[in-house]
Amino acid sequence: MSINAEPLRKILQLEGEKGYLDSAVIGGLDRFLSRWTGQAVQSVASPQLLRQFERLKLVNSNYASLTKQQRKEWVNKVFAFLPELERVEAGKVEVKPPQEKKEEEVTPPPVSRRRPAAKKRRAASGSIDSPITTLKGVSTTLAAKFKRLGVETVRDLLYFFPHRHLDYSQRKHISQLTEGEEQTIIANVWETKVVMPGGRRSTEAIVGDETGNVRVLWFNNPYLVKQLPTNSRVVLSGRVGLFNGRLVFESPEWELLEDKELVHTGRLVPLYSLTQGLHPRQVRKLMKEVVDQWAWQVEDFLPAELRQRCNLFELPQAIAQAHYPENEAAKDRARVSLAFDELFILQLGVLARKREWQEGQPGNSFNIKTPVLDAFLSSLPFELTAAQQKVLGEILADLKEPKPMSRLLQGEVGSGKTVVATAALLVGAASDYQGAFMAPTEILAEQHFANVCQLLSRAGEQVSEEENLRRYSGLLSRPLTVALLIGGMNQARKQEIQQLILSGDIDIIIGTHALIQKEVEFKRLGLAVVDEQHRFGVTQRSALRQKGFNPHVLVMTATPIPRTLALTLYGDLDLSVIDELPPGRQVVKTKWLKPAQRDSAYAFLRKQVAEGHQAFIICPLVEESEAIEAKAAVAEYERLSQEVFPDLSLGLIHGRMSVAEKDEVMHHFRSAELDILVSTPVVEVGIDVPNATVMLVESADRFGLSQLHQFRGRVGRGEEQSYCMLLAQNPSEIGRERLDLIGKIYDGFQLAEEDLRLRGPGEFFGTRQSGLPDLRMAKLSDVALLELARDEAIRLFGKDPTLKKPEHRLLAKELARVWQKGGEWS
Ligand code: ADP
Ligand code: MG
Repeated sequence: MSINAEPLRKILQLEGEKGYLDSAVIGGLDRFLSRWTGQAVQSVASPQLLRQFERLKLVNSNYASLTKQQRKEWVNKVFAFLPELERVEAGKVEVKPPQEKKEEEVTPPPVSRRRPAAKKRRAASGSIDSPITTLKGVSTTLAAKFKRLGVETVRDLLYFFPHRHLDYSQRKHISQLTEGEEQTIIANVWETKVVMPGGRRSTEAIVGDETGNVRVLWFNNPYLVKQLPTNSRVVLSGRVGLFNGRLVFESPEWELLEDKELVHTGRLVPLYSLTQGLHPRQVRKLMKEVVDQWAWQVEDFLPAELRQRCNLFELPQAIAQAHYPENEAAKDRARVSLAFDELFILQLGVLARKREWQEGQPGNSFNIKTPVLDAFLSSLPFELTAAQQKVLGEILADLKEPKPMSRLLQGEVGSGKTVVATAALLVGAASDYQGAFMAPTEILAEQHFANVCQLLSRAGEQVSEEENLRRYSGLLSRPLTVALLIGGMNQARKQEIQQLILSGDIDIIIGTHALIQKEVEFKRLGLAVVDEQHRFGVTQRSALRQKGFNPHVLVMTATPIPRTLALTLYGDLDLSVIDELPPGRQVVKTKWLKPAQRDSAYAFLRKQVAEGHQAFIICPLVEESEAIEAKAAVAEYERLSQEVFPDLSLGLIHGRMSVAEKDEVMHHFRSAELDILVSTPVVEVGIDVPNATVMLVESADRFGLSQLHQFRGRVGRGEEQSYCMLLAQNPSEIGRERLDLIGKIYDGFQLAEEDLRLRGPGEFFGTRQSGLPDLRMAKLSDVALLELARDEAIRLFGKDPTLKKPEHRLLAKELARVWQKGGEWS
């Protein structure tokens, strides 16, 4: 079948000759057209051509009602179209076999590259940062719904990217439809009616193209009857099912084929995350309008030369293609372009902060050639490992500079970070600076206090021991004073110690992060060591500055983070890594047990206790809430103490207990009054009880590798061989892989890389990185892109560190905008 344009051509010619009186054909031109067009469209496969039909009003023409002048114009337009029609249709193959999908693609016109007419653009009032209520058709009610999704301004909306796309771009003829797949057809609506399958009012339609008819059912939706008039042309995209042996389109996405771009069908269709009261069609339609009207008004802040070099879309196009891509390749390129922008801005911000921190105020230059350091190091009962020596060297080199250090020290639990930090604090004290050593919890602060005192007691002679305060002679020309300051201590003593800090009597003060945030005043703070903390960010630093100090900062973490990730997240910090454990450190034997082996696990635990050791039992992770988790832990504790180990003494720790309560339990465990400590996953953080030799982790498959590794670092801290038993009910594929890996790999960094690979960075960190600007498009596993962004940022920063050059004006603006929103950052 092909289109015969000849009759139409003749009629139109005649109509012209007769003076456009609608007299060329009996019954009027409209009737003729409806017949001719009705036949013609059956054989048109190209959607562009179909749209031309619509646009020219060949379908549903209304010739009779036009004025003479309008008739003339219209006839001329159709005339001009006829050769095109014949040309296209001449080369057309009848019905193409399904494998020739390419030719069947419904290709929407490349809108996104086409800028809307100037008129249209001017029609948009307000700026891109106006609330979305300035958009036509967005009520305050609708705006409230979007607000729940974090969308308030037009810009937010533009950056409200779909979480994925449905590929409805493959058009088929009805005869080619197959069961199960997602497919798209263009068809005529022959008939619609309300039907009641299963008692639900639904819409049924029979639609057809030149290859056949198919039934369509929109279950539970009787309203479509009105929206799909008979004889209208629709595009349907969706899944085709089998019903009583016949194919049925099941609630497909639909839209009328009009002179408009397809939004819901026939293309890559965006899927947005919705909240209650927002409907996919509504959001898609709004997004289409917003993207068409506003994407072009987003200023492209990347220097053009950089964009070209990195082969990225211009920003407006990237945004448009991220929503309504022309094809898969454009979609991917849009994602890469937007991800690059995010990472680049992130890197620039991080570099700017570092510069500001280091150049804002002069820091304190320590004299690192001090006999105290040698005395301390030679007093240790061991040699520093090569990694410790290297890292200490890096730190000392920073401390001697008049610009403040900002360094991240990574090293596994037990790799000897505390020793290195103590050495640095001593060097500070020797230069008459105070040092603060901060831990995230009071338990850990106490532990650090005990550890530091123990280390110092070998080098110096303890001359006095007061409550939470020790003095050592023989190290400095005056006694070296170390103190502990935590919320749990008695008020009077606390005030005394605060007074001593202010007067400069205390050299090294150990406490929680409250140390720097709250009431404590220092005399001469020169070095802040922050342990086990990911979020020692700008806020904390400016808190220090407000106290008039510009100390060196050493952040320590036992969470091994792959290098690229560290450079992104903590790009403002220099990185030091202790990548080796002290010699002779035992490997914690780790074993994955099946549920049936639970009893033998309990028996093993009992045996260890009988030998005088202690044990941890880690309760399952409960994601819903800390309260529920605590409740589950209490129940497990009761079950264990009553049914499993009635003869042993058990303790319980969970996140809902007060600090004092937790402290008390920990105290009992450390002093070996308790045999078994039952705990929610909170014990992850550095508890040090060398006599604990065995750990049992429940539902171990649900923890990440790094976390499991942290857990097992709680045992194996003494001389005795230690064990970690992992119980898993019914692990998923990834869960299995993890449990296999943790039994084989004992290197924290290697595990972290594996963890990142298995889980992706979002989960790797548990929650969204607080304080960092949002990453919507970038995945931190995009290592290559991340490195590219970092390199480019360093390069640009090298040329124009303050972004004062005119070509960087927009960049500076964007940086301020993003980072201002980000607030605190790591
Ligand atoms: P981290 O803070 O990294 O967890 P610590 O500094 O607390 O590690 O060290 C863990 C244990 O190892 C401590 O008992 C410490 O005295 C000991 N230790 C540290 N460095 C060495 C070393 N080079 N050789 C032997 N033992 C060491
Ligand atoms: Mg530690």
